[in-house]
Amino acid sequence: MWQVIGQDRILTPLKRSFEEGYISHAYLLTGPTHVGKKTLALNIAQALNCSAPEAPCGHCHSCLTIAAGKHADVIFLDLTTRLDLSASPKQNARVEIGIDDMKELHHKANLPPYEGKYKIFIVDNAEFLSTEAANSILKILEEPPRYVVWILLANEEERVLPTIVSRCQRLELKPMPPGQIQRVLTTDYRVDTGEAALLDRLSHGCFGWALSALSDKALLEHRSTRISQLSPLLTVDLNQRFAFAQEVALLFSHNHRSTAGTETITTWLDWWRDLLLTKSNCKNYITNIDYEESIEKQAAALSLAEIKDFLTNLLSVEKEIHKNVNPRLALEWLMLNLPRKEIAYD
Ligand SMILES: [Zn+2]
Repeated sequence: MWQVIGQDRILTPLKRSFEEGYISHAYLLTGPTHVGKKTLALNIAQALNCSAPEAPCGHCHSCLTIAAGKHADVIFLDLTTRLDLSASPKQNARVEIGIDDMKELHHKANLPPYEGKYKIFIVDNAEFLSTEAANSILKILEEPPRYVVWILLANEEERVLPTIVSRCQRLELKPMPPGQIQRVLTTDYRVDTGEAALLDRLSHGCFGWALSALSDKALLEHRSTRISQLSPLLTVDLNQRFAFAQEVALLFSHNHRSTAGTETITTWLDWWRDLLLTKSNCKNYITNIDYEESIEKQAAALSLAEIKDFLTNLLSVEKEIHKNVNPRLALEWLMLNLPRKEIAYD
């Protein structure tokens, strides 16, 4: 059973090609975080090694061990686990896979499958491959043993080396349209309508995020905490704003693997997008449907031009931080450009 939801556009031709026996030696799966790339990669691995006639069946020994990450012929490599945490989080940081790692990969690729029909290498966050490591993989791709399949996963295709992209069959996963995740959550997961509607909006079409939020309540709690810090900024003085800027800047510098800083900026962007939609009489499309009243009050206190300006500044700060500009400096500049309003909350 294919478990990827809402990706029929790429799944239908992929299934057909498997039925016809056409299997590529390398696939590149692209799309935002939580859109389903890893699920699809594991599904492909299951489809290629499943022992049932309707592959992937999801319950044969092979399908189960692949899902559990214990299949001897499915090798999973996540490049972010190799990031050097002492280095600055530069946009184009590329992980150095050592020569010993490459020798081992070559060796593994040249050994026939141990228990399955195919040997599958899944490389997560492939945009972090160093040129040297990518060239090594390219060498394997030039003369691939017929039983080896590479599946590379990347959030941003433009950061993957072009020589790699050109050797792969590209499969682009896209976020699901609004409402679809809500329907799946209410029908297949028995989530109540209100919660499903909220998760649909907050997931931005990425089903994996909605499932994570269902199983880990801390995700929604952290979001509420972020909103409780962001929402009052319009009414507080510069001291409090700078204190907040410093706090968020620390989220970026403490641990480069942590996503807390990025999540704060995302929540902030969602909030101001909601203000823009509400001000433009399109509040049916807002993300934070559980904060509709606060959003309406703030939108009423701001002019359309003020909202647009701040949103533009916030987007440029997000981009600058991604380019490794000092987060504290960028956020303090943002605070100086945030309008100050008197808003009465009941
Ligand atoms: Zn199976």
